[in-house]
Amino acid sequence: MDMGNNKNRTKITNIRIKTGDLLKLGGIKKIERGKQYLDDGRVLALEFPGADTVKASILGGKKYSVSISGGDEPRFRCSCPSFENEGFCKHCVAVLLAAEQGTSFETINENYVSRLIGGINKIEDKVKPNPGDEIAQALNEMGAAETGAVGAHGEYRYRQTEKGLVVWGGSAAKTLLRKFDLLRMKDGFRIDGYYFYDGMGGNFRPVAMPADMDLPDWTDDSRNPVFEPEAIPDGIDTEIDSYVVHDHTPKSYFQKSIFLRELDDIGAFWHGCSDWHIKGIVLEKSEVLQAIKSEKYDFTELKNTPELLLPKISYPANGSIEVTFYFLSGGLGSTRGLFRLTDIHQTGGMVKFGKRECIIDMGPGPIP
Ligand SMILES: [Zn+2]
Repeated sequence: MDMGNNKNRTKITNIRIKTGDLLKLGGIKKIERGKQYLDDGRVLALEFPGADTVKASILGGKKYSVSISGGDEPRFRCSCPSFENEGFCKHCVAVLLAAEQGTSFETINENYVSRLIGGINKIEDKVKPNPGDEIAQALNEMGAAETGAVGAHGEYRYRQTEKGLVVWGGSAAKTLLRKFDLLRMKDGFRIDGYYFYDGMGGNFRPVAMPADMDLPDWTDDSRNPVFEPEAIPDGIDTEIDSYVVHDHTPKSYFQKSIFLRELDDIGAFWHGCSDWHIKGIVLEKSEVLQAIKSEKYDFTELKNTPELLLPKISYPANGSIEVTFYFLSGGLGSTRGLFRLTDIHQTGGMVKFGKRECIIDMGPGPIP
């Protein structure tokens, strides 16, 4: 089912069914099971090809296709054996209930997400460290760590400022972007950035700039590019969202959400300790169970957690695209637990990191 490129996002208007009619069709058992399927996250995709039709795929014993059409007296179809025998099934109920929520969506499959995460993990050692650490040490050994010192170190250039060390050059952001096969920089632009390092902390400020331009040297002794982006030289944009383009397929929206978070993580001193780590993405309730096995924790609260926690790309009626995924935060300095994160991709390519809903609160980390 391809729901990319803004197709089939009509909000359902006409399909209505009374609970009484549903009971006649399927009986209370099927309604209860259908509701459970919906709550478990088993409806994998839902689209509205027209005002009177719904198509969906759902994960039962296998993956089944369901379609519902017609207005007041809907006709149902499901590819499962139970529908074949009885003319109705719990999958139809689950899809009907999902359709009533009025938003089409698609989920990203588990294998795909695991492969993407694995690929990013592989390059972590190469792209994430802050080069300021090594450069500061070298400068100290040379006794050259005073304000205003400028120079080059390997593939980096640096400037010692009043606030700390500014480092630029290197290919971390470019290397990271290459791991996301559905993303690229807008024609005529490239990605680059400045690092900041002050001994206690470090961060990276990604920038978008014309492809044929070199990243300007840092000349400001009193400011740093990460926390004072307004000090970044003219002709360079620090809001890079709209320069990262893709084909608007569901997978590409997911990739962009993850890429922007990973970009934030480059050069971060607290990398892995705060509230983001790529390994925190979870796809099934069983992973959450495993992670908290060693904790003294009340397991009854897990009852309301869906079985499947697949990333979901949904198309609300307001025209934006929402990317929702589950994240297990194990940070030392943040609230630990299971969170549902929702990003809002706006027209023009800007991405807002939106809701952060706590599904399971496992309390504060050791450094609250
Ligand atoms: Zn069925």
